[in-house]
Amino acid sequence: AVPVLAVDGPTASGKGTLASQLAQRLGYHLLDSGALYRATALAAQEAGVPLDDGEAVAAVAATMALRFDGDTVWLAGQDITDPLRLESTGGLASKVSAHPPVRQALHALQLSFRRLPGLVADGRDMGTVVFPDAALKVFLTASAEERAQRRHKQLLSRGVEASIDSLCADLRARDDRDQNRSVAPLKPAKDAHLLDNSELSIEDSVAQVLSWWQP
Ligand code: C5P
Repeated sequence: AVPVLAVDGPTASGKGTLASQLAQRLGYHLLDSGALYRATALAAQEAGVPLDDGEAVAAVAATMALRFDGDTVWLAGQDITDPLRLESTGGLASKVSAHPPVRQALHALQLSFRRLPGLVADGRDMGTVVFPDAALKVFLTASAEERAQRRHKQLLSRGVEASIDSLCADLRARDDRDQNRSVAPLKPAKDAHLLDNSELSIEDSVAQVLSWWQP
């Protein structure tokens, strides 16, 4: 079987960075499952499909022409790399991701990323739903304060000003929504390793996960 390393956790926990570094170190493929929900939201918007119509959005998800090419993401021949990363797109993704038919439609697509020599899968439900047989499941957390600081720095580097307090409040609200929603609530798999990276550098986190990795 193709080994899978699942990295799940809340928003701005540093999952994306950790997962891509791990994929690089292991020479594995990378699945950024959040990008699939984000692309679905953009594709639905482009097609004029209302985001609260789960069945219609699922049909879009099942048929969208999405292509990952290094760091560039293409949707129907359009470069969507920048719009994909917008905060507003994250909000729309969170909306479409609450529809069970949308999650169902993206399930097969996510499984198709499992190819030799292995896969690092980044998301919310990689270890619980999509790859329950993953060789290693990591649930990454960091304090809301620390995540707000990081998001602040990330936004500043793009020239966007935002107050740490309001970012922190936004993160707590999103955590609350993600943990308490009825569809795919965010929670660690029973057999997940919990990793709080509030006080860890990226290198430390990578080293910790690699020390657990025995495919
Ligand atoms: O991780 P990212 O910010 O790109 O995810 C965007 C949104 O997509 C999340 O807020 C979450 O609601 C949803 N998502 C999900 N399941 C995943 C990945 C993302 O529900 N596996």
